[in-house]
Amino acid sequence: MEDQNRTELENLGEFGLIDIIKKKVQIRNASTLVGIGDDAAVVKYDDDSKTVISTDLLVEGVHFDLSYVPLKHLGYKAVMVNISDIIAMNAVPRQITVSLSLSNRFSLEAIEEIYEGIFLACELYNVDLIGGDTTSSVSGLTISITAIGEGKEGKIVYRGGAKESNLLVVSGDLGGAYMGLQILEREKQIYKESPNVQPDLSDCDYILERQLKPEARLDIIREFESLGIKPNAMMDISDGLSSEVMHLCNESKVGVSIYEDKLPIDQQTFDRARDHHLDPTVCALNGGEDYELVFAIDLSDYEKIKNHPMFTVVGHFLNESEGQTLTAKDGSIHPLEAQGWNSFKGHSK
Ligand code: ADP
Ligand code: MG
Repeated sequence: MEDQNRTELENLGEFGLIDIIKKKVQIRNASTLVGIGDDAAVVKYDDDSKTVISTDLLVEGVHFDLSYVPLKHLGYKAVMVNISDIIAMNAVPRQITVSLSLSNRFSLEAIEEIYEGIFLACELYNVDLIGGDTTSSVSGLTISITAIGEGKEGKIVYRGGAKESNLLVVSGDLGGAYMGLQILEREKQIYKESPNVQPDLSDCDYILERQLKPEARLDIIREFESLGIKPNAMMDISDGLSSEVMHLCNESKVGVSIYEDKLPIDQQTFDRARDHHLDPTVCALNGGEDYELVFAIDLSDYEKIKNHPMFTVVGHFLNESEGQTLTAKDGSIHPLEAQGWNSFKGHSK
C-alpha cells in the first residue's frame, strides 16, 4: 500500500535531500566561516587555538538496532559519540560533518527524524553542521560523523600524561548504558516470541536514557576550568572503564589500582543488574557506552574534587611494575581485564 506520508528519496534526489538539510542548518559559531554548499567547509579559530578532529562510523546491525532505537535518538547519539571524543581532549566541539549511506527502505521522513536528533544535539552543545556526504546503499543505514573542536594552547589533554601517584577519577556513574541495552534486548526477545505482551519497562527510565540518549560531558570540562584543574591524561568511556584505564596506563607507562567499592553505580543500574543475574561491578567495568570521562589528576588537586557530586576517585596510578589491578570488596586483588567492545566479534556482550 502506498504511504501518503512517505517521500521516496528516489524522487527527491541527492541534491534535493542536501538542500532540505541545508535549509534547516543554523550557524552558531564565529569560527564557522563557510558551511554546506561548496566543495569544502571553511573553519578558522583564534591564533592560540588548535584544531581537534575525530571521526566515528556507525553501522546498522553492528552498532545500532533500529527495532528498538528511535531514529531521532540515533541521530542524537551519533553526535554525542563523536563530540565526546573532542571533549575527552579537553577541547570544545564546534563543528560536525554527517555522512549517510541509505537503502531505499528509508524515506525522506525517516532521514528528517535522524536530523531532528542531530540538530537537537547541535543546539544543546552549540555545534554547527557544516557538511557531509550522502550516498545510496544496498543494505541498511550507515552514519559517519566527523567532529571538529577547538583546543586552547596548553590545555589539550592526551592519553599519555598520567603519572605515578596521580588519582584516577571518573565523572558520573557507570554501567547504566549497558544495563539499558540488556533491557532493550530482553524486550526485543519477548516481543519476537509473543508480540501481544506489553513491554515491562518499569523502573528502567534512567538506564534506558543512558543507553538511548547519552550526554557528552561538556559540563565536566567547563567544571575543570572553574575549579582550575587540568587533568594529566583523559579519555571518554566508550568501551568500559577497564579497557579505557588500561589504555591510559599503557600510553602513560604507569600501573594502576582500582577499588571495587569506589565504583560509582546508580541504584537503578545496580538493581536491574541483580534482576538479570549480572554483577553490577562487571557492568561498571566492562559495560561501555556511558560516555563519562576518566582522567588522572595530581594528588594536590584532591581538595578541589573531594565531595564534588560530579566526580568519584576510583583508584590511583602506580609504578608500571606494579601492574594494573582491581581490589575487590573482600580485599582480593585481580588483574584488570579489558572486555571492550569489539565489533568484529559481533555482539559478544
Ligand atoms: P561533492 O560532490 O563535492 O561531494 P556534495 O554534492 O556531496 O559535494 O555535497 C554538497 C554540499 O552538501 C557539501 O557542502 C557537503 O558537505 C554537503 N552535504 C552533503 N551531504 C550532506 C549531509 N548528509 N549532511 C550535511 N551536509 C551534506
Ligand atoms: Mg559528496
